Amino acid sequence: MASDQLVFVPLGGVGEIGMNLALYGFGKGRNRQWLAIDMGVSFAKDDLPGVDGILPDIDFLLERKRNLVGIAITHAHEDHFGALFDFWPELEAPVFMSPFAAGLLAAKKGSENGAPDIPVQVVQQGDRFPVGPFELEYIPMSHSIPEPNAIAIRSPAGLVLHSGDWKLDPTPLVGKPTDADRLKALGEEGILALICDSTNAIRDGVSPSEADVAQELEGIIAGSPNRVVVTTFASNIARLRTVAIAGQKAGREVVVIGRAMHRALGVADELGYLKGVGPIRDQDAFGSFPRDRVLALMTGSQGEPRAALARIANGDHRDIALSSGDRVIFSSRTIPGNERSINAIQNALVDQGVDVITDSDALVHVSGHPRRDELRQLYGWTKPQILIPVHGEARHLHEHARLAQSEGIAEVIELRNGKMARLAPSPASVISDVNAGRLYRDGNLLLHPDASGVTDRRRLSFAGVVTVALAMATDGDLLDDPQIAIFGLPTVDGSGRPFLTIIEDTIENVLESLPRGRRKDPGTVREAVRRAVRGEVAAVWGKKPITGVLISVIEDE
Ligand SMILES: [Zn+2]
Ligand SMILES: [Zn+2]
Repeated sequence: MASDQLVFVPLGGVGEIGMNLALYGFGKGRNRQWLAIDMGVSFAKDDLPGVDGILPDIDFLLERKRNLVGIAITHAHEDHFGALFDFWPELEAPVFMSPFAAGLLAAKKGSENGAPDIPVQVVQQGDRFPVGPFELEYIPMSHSIPEPNAIAIRSPAGLVLHSGDWKLDPTPLVGKPTDADRLKALGEEGILALICDSTNAIRDGVSPSEADVAQELEGIIAGSPNRVVVTTFASNIARLRTVAIAGQKAGREVVVIGRAMHRALGVADELGYLKGVGPIRDQDAFGSFPRDRVLALMTGSQGEPRAALARIANGDHRDIALSSGDRVIFSSRTIPGNERSINAIQNALVDQGVDVITDSDALVHVSGHPRRDELRQLYGWTKPQILIPVHGEARHLHEHARLAQSEGIAEVIELRNGKMARLAPSPASVISDVNAGRLYRDGNLLLHPDASGVTDRRRLSFAGVVTVALAMATDGDLLDDPQIAIFGLPTVDGSGRPFLTIIEDTIENVLESLPRGRRKDPGTVREAVRRAVRGEVAAVWGKKPITGVLISVIEDE
């Protein structure tokens, strides 16, 4: 029908790198049918104490779940499929993903308590299949994990290409390179809109190939005199493969450390991605080989405190110790926010005399995202009418939009999570705002930020807590000395006076200063004591603790 609309609504991943969740809607008003592409998480940084992960708020989608026709996953990175276990039980729509992604999801389920059984429909790269009013086609791209896909979404209102994460690597080493012919054919068919990765849109040129990294790593490993440790992302199978083969070529035994890496290698092996890689050993073998005959692969490149690498750097790993003259290669990038923890590990290693090599010393890592010349190439093949930059922070999105405009793309739309863009009928534009935001994964719960207690937790971390309990008679007299508990405060002030005494004196003064009539009202007393205690501690210490006052009024019989 001519009046049917095709809309695009990102709930995550636009204005940030992480928690990707894109919605495409076809139809009119309440009868619109929805397709979700990707359902990812972000990792929480130090400024959210206790938060294990950040997920998109899906209230908008939950209200429309009856019209959700499917969830299609582009690839198995956590920022694209890490929220499936959390959200699928509430959505229960058909889920589509490639064999590697399905294998990794199944392996993850095995190690996550209470993870739901998600009936995945496995899609081979190149497959074309109907989902509600849409027809999807998985198109092989290159990235930093096996089987990354762009998804072509055909609808009666036009064809959209959702790029997923991609680059133009002609030699990705594992899996198929980006399918240029298919992309060109789609361009001929006519692409209404390209929804495209912006991660590296501020970088000129073309990314180096995974094969260039392999060559560099091979040279460094062959020339290493003693033990070699290589740390990288668990799912980067091409990289793990490269390092394992380089180690074996150099006459070293290869040891793999960490559950996530074993899991990813297991899945890759089943799908035939590890052909030609020799035996891989477990970590307890590490100590039994001479220093120049061993190589260890492990996660922990982001400074994760519980990962093996952090423990090795601190000298408290059960099976692995390094010594002067050994070498650690960070075959990874530093994800913004992790600089401090990564630096701490690298410094601890250098203190042990270990030689540390990072991507600023040599080509030991390459990004999986397109630089500007690769973006230009994709525009040339696909010739979209509309371009919407996604998968980036504000600066990446903006530079991507400017590049697309300067390359002559007719309609370029910059938007953020929670905006609804109409792609058809023409002209494309942002037509409304929807409910969007983020959720915190905190222990066993998923919480809205304002109901999560995280703001208080952050205050606790720098100013502590004071709790005061008072027992009052109905006439306002205290029936006992105030009970005071303090957490996280210094014990004494600058002149050696204990904070407990300071608080006791403050309570006594404020109660004396309250007229008897007002002292009978527990609410008034509570607020007066709270403000006085908080104010006095702030005057002495210079910081305001979280202050709680509990009052029980004891009735005479
Ligand atoms: Zn990715
Ligand atoms: Zn991504």
